[in-house]
Amino acid sequence: MKTIEDLDVAGKRVFVRADLNVPLSGAAITDDGRIRAVAPTIAKLVQAGAKVIVASHLGRPKGEPDPQFSLAPVAVRLGEILGRPVAFATDTVGESAKATVAALADGEVTLLENLRFNAGETAKDDAERGAFADALAELADLYVGDGFGAVHRKHASVYDLPARLPHAVGDLIATEVAVLKRLTEDVARPYVVVLGGSKVSDKVGVIDNLLGKADRIVIGGGMVFTFLKALGHEVGNSLLQEDQIPVVLEYLERAKANGVEFVLPVDAAVSGSFPDLKTKAPVEDFAVVAADAIPAGTLGLDIGPRSAELFAEKLADAATVFWNGPMGVFEHPAFAEGTKAVAQALLDSDAFTVVGGGDSAAAVRILGFDETKFGHISTGGGASLEYLEGKSLPGLTALEG
Ligand code: ADP
Ligand code: MG
Repeated sequence: MKTIEDLDVAGKRVFVRADLNVPLSGAAITDDGRIRAVAPTIAKLVQAGAKVIVASHLGRPKGEPDPQFSLAPVAVRLGEILGRPVAFATDTVGESAKATVAALADGEVTLLENLRFNAGETAKDDAERGAFADALAELADLYVGDGFGAVHRKHASVYDLPARLPHAVGDLIATEVAVLKRLTEDVARPYVVVLGGSKVSDKVGVIDNLLGKADRIVIGGGMVFTFLKALGHEVGNSLLQEDQIPVVLEYLERAKANGVEFVLPVDAAVSGSFPDLKTKAPVEDFAVVAADAIPAGTLGLDIGPRSAELFAEKLADAATVFWNGPMGVFEHPAFAEGTKAVAQALLDSDAFTVVGGGDSAAAVRILGFDETKFGHISTGGGASLEYLEGKSLPGLTALEG
């Protein structure tokens, strides 16, 4: 892959596909990690005298403008981080984008509006995606792919656009890929993988692949309950994916056969209802129960304190750790303890520690941990999982040629 240094960017219009898909509460950015992660790439291009056109998606708008998914607040924050103004185009390939790009002087930066406001960005149809990529290509002379969180998507700006412009890989993607190589080639052992988050179905592929690679797989978060149910336990109203039960059972079997240790929680923090994440009102009926006896009418919302201790023990001797997915509904303080305990266990270990996943990375920062103390905090959840699944990622393939 070519890097930015291989391109002659001075005076050129350089399209940077970034991943600025940050969590928002209204128009307030609750975690700016992804903006800070790509800022050095943009600053480097500014320094080299490029006219920098930054583009990203945000959330899942339905292929048309939707103000709640506007990147406008991100332009402001990006400007603050770069310490220079960032012009904002209120569309992607329309009049505003054309005018804003035309007005750029060397070393200036613009951010386009949400790419997914155009249906062509995510279209399954090659021609429709291609047409949008053609329009984007009109705006620029060169392409830098640095939106790691989106490289597993066969989207116009990720996959089709680099085929239309001389291109290079940005520094963020280069770093992310180097880290993922350390998790797949000549891995230092014991290799412990901690998985959580909401859906088993998001993580089945990676478990499948890791059953042949990891020494220990620790499970927390909402996906736990599908495992517990598969083992015949009551899970109350907890998150459950019945259809994944056969898959989960097969994994537990295969883990045994392969000598991979599977670690499940022994207790859970529960409540009769999902907590209010807006007001963060105290949870009146908070209780800790055994993982194999979750009372009917309650929901498991975090691993319990004994599980937190157990997980910390299982991480203590690791040489390599990959962690994806919060252990509980960390967005509410009553259910953040499990996630805190795992983050702390990673900090306490001497292992090479990698945190992947948008919510996991945000959790680490929101819960007040010093992110520089981790080996690496990935900006891409789905992307890092798919890489670890052994899949080829469209956005990386596109940067190769
Ligand atoms: P990541 O973005 O790091 O890959 P996911 O998107 O898979 O993580 O999952 C994050 C979400 O999982 C969080 O919003 C969290 O509230 C939710 N979650 C964790 N544990 C539970 C649980 N027990 N029940 C419901 N949701 C949960
Ligand atoms: Mg997520």
